[in-house]
Amino acid sequence: MIRIILFGAPGAGKGTYSSELIKKYKVPQISTGDMLRAEVKEGTELGKEAHEFMKHGQLVPDQMVIEMVHKRIQEPDAVNGFILDGFPRTVTQANSLDQMLRQMNIELSGVIKIEISQETILSRLTGRRVCTNCGATFNIATMKPKQEGICDKCGHNLIQRPDDKPETILNRLAIYQKDTEPLIEFYKKKDLLRPVQCEGPYNEALARVFAALEKMAKV
Ligand code: ADP
Ligand code: ZN
Repeated sequence: MIRIILFGAPGAGKGTYSSELIKKYKVPQISTGDMLRAEVKEGTELGKEAHEFMKHGQLVPDQMVIEMVHKRIQEPDAVNGFILDGFPRTVTQANSLDQMLRQMNIELSGVIKIEISQETILSRLTGRRVCTNCGATFNIATMKPKQEGICDKCGHNLIQRPDDKPETILNRLAIYQKDTEPLIEFYKKKDLLRPVQCEGPYNEALARVFAALEKMAKV
């Protein structure tokens, strides 16, 4: 049973690692970024409101994501574990998550902190391309698709996310440092933080993430 948070800066690879982890552990990935992008794509009220913040690289208001996660985490497929990706991102969100888990009478297995240099982050974010259809991610420098501009998995077009433009990236990183980094202390105090060095070859970093998870998984 794993109930974890994948924690790291934008571009650290949370989405890429979680898509590997869910295959092995058969638990859902709860990605607030993906959920919000789906709302935007469907043109819901929530999506319209969220889009105004997302396009500038700002965080959407806490209450919006907290409600989304609150609903999602209680769905039947999350009963036997989950991987939270991109949530919590503020101390307010982390406190709400604590409260939700207490109410559900469950505990986190741990928080995996993806450690990576600022340089790598910048090159990843500027090179990132995502599939307009299935959401798979590629990188024009480090994880090229087989055919330029085309998704390996489903054949649809790849685009650059609007918030991956250079001006917005710097904004997102500044917000990460100000609003999200305080969570490191928050989870350290609870003795839940598990830092994993993710610089270097992808497969080796992934193996280290898996190893960290093995240690915290409870049967
Ligand atoms: P990344 O990790 O690459 O920044 P995400 O896909 O996790 O990207 O998030 C994209 C955007 O969605 C964020 O910049 C923010 O606007 C919004 N978002 C996602 N998760 C949250 C959250 N937990 N709290 C507030 N805003 C969020
Ligand atoms: Zn695709």
